[in-house]
Amino acid sequence: LEWLYSYMIRLRLPGGFLTPEQWIGLNEVAGKHSTGTIKITTRQTIQLHGILKSHLRPTIQQFNLQHLDSIAACGDVNRNVTCTSNPSESPLHQEVYELAGKISEMCLPKTKAYYDIWIDDELLIDRKAEEDPLYQDRYLPRKLKIGIAIPPNNDVDVFINDIGLIAIIENNRVIGYNIAAGGGLGATHGNEATYPRLASILGFVDTEEKALKAVYEIITVQRDFGNRSDRKLSRLKYTIDKLGIDGYRAEVEKRTGFAFEPAKDFKFEQRKDRYGWVQNHEGKWFYTLFVEHGRVLDIQEYPLKSGLLKIAETGKVNFRFTCNQNLILSDIKEEDKRDIELLLKEYGISDHTETASALRKNSVACVALNTCSLALAEAQRYLPSLVTKIEPVLEKYGLLEEDITIRMTGCPNGCGRSPNAEIGFVGTAYGKYNLHIGGDRLGLRLNTKFKDNIGEEEILEALDQLFGLYVQEKHAGETFGDFSYRYLQTVK
Ligand code: SF4
Repeated sequence: LEWLYSYMIRLRLPGGFLTPEQWIGLNEVAGKHSTGTIKITTRQTIQLHGILKSHLRPTIQQFNLQHLDSIAACGDVNRNVTCTSNPSESPLHQEVYELAGKISEMCLPKTKAYYDIWIDDELLIDRKAEEDPLYQDRYLPRKLKIGIAIPPNNDVDVFINDIGLIAIIENNRVIGYNIAAGGGLGATHGNEATYPRLASILGFVDTEEKALKAVYEIITVQRDFGNRSDRKLSRLKYTIDKLGIDGYRAEVEKRTGFAFEPAKDFKFEQRKDRYGWVQNHEGKWFYTLFVEHGRVLDIQEYPLKSGLLKIAETGKVNFRFTCNQNLILSDIKEEDKRDIELLLKEYGISDHTETASALRKNSVACVALNTCSLALAEAQRYLPSLVTKIEPVLEKYGLLEEDITIRMTGCPNGCGRSPNAEIGFVGTAYGKYNLHIGGDRLGLRLNTKFKDNIGEEEILEALDQLFGLYVQEKHAGETFGDFSYRYLQTVK
């Protein structure tokens, strides 16, 4: 008898988009083959957990019928490409969103083994079709992540990606992209050689064609120069630090045949999701709903999953995921808005979104225990109750409406992006966390470890003290993250 192996499947959804039919299909697959919970990830896609080995093929086959796949959603290849989520924020969103799809296609491994193994059992005999100029015979030393931001929104946290593109917009036209490389938030406890890093800007390119070429060659440089002897030091960020930013850029330019132009100015003004209703330039409506840590499930007092299924069954909305683990019901016509509003009310979804505190709506957590085998501590199952205990502390200081980002991960791998939150928790052992502070609100500065390996009581004490100091000593308009950063300089 074999063990009852259980697996997770993650979809490849560049830019994080599903039609209502695909959501209905996903809902069915989740109920039939996984734990039933639909998890929206921090990379704008979906994971299903607890899929028994014998259910893997039926799950993937059913996804295939919905034109969905999980190719390169894991492994030492380019992963899901993220893109600023809310199309209502820019009339140019569609153009940039399409670039996310093009990058994803360009970086797909060429092997058709996925279909042979999971879909139709037909062995590929044409070996030429297996030739892969990008990954060749060795793939990458490690996973690679790409994200595209459309300023002023940095909801994708563009600088945490191995490759980040920032759309530069002038006179309502995308005039090109600033391209950054070398981001990545993972580290290993006790290994000083590992560290989180934000991407460095290589420069600007003025066409989409050049952006694609630059992305491609940044990957080939990592393929050829990345560390293949120590997996802990194999991400692109370490290669860029080894070659130096100028050395890495020069190697990329040698391969692209063109030079990067100096980076263009841009300004991020927010990183959070814009909750509630917004209308775009075409008059279509978008509703961003809060999904705590991306967990779509029914609980007695809040039947979110059933509500979303009912909404999908109207066929009047598309589904878009955000890197903050939330969901945008999108592309709703004026005449359909009322129907969707009623369903949002009936299932408690709009109330849930409206009544959650600012801290809760700015919280992110990775899956951690009990589904991630690398987890040392809880994250998504614990952060909600910790936030409930932090809220009265914030209220005491009149800070309940402050948009403070708070993130928790069950280990230092950084999937929940805790290293660039204003308050970041990194699991060290069951019930214990390193507390980090001093990250900025827009995702432009990493935080710093403030307390080591502490439990809930000490966390609440430390935050109480910090919030008190913040209220007393903050400069006009200073965010909690910026204040904490300044405070850390004084206590060093
Ligand atoms: Fe990622 Fe670590 Fe969280 Fe697992 S526990 S999801 S590896 S950050």
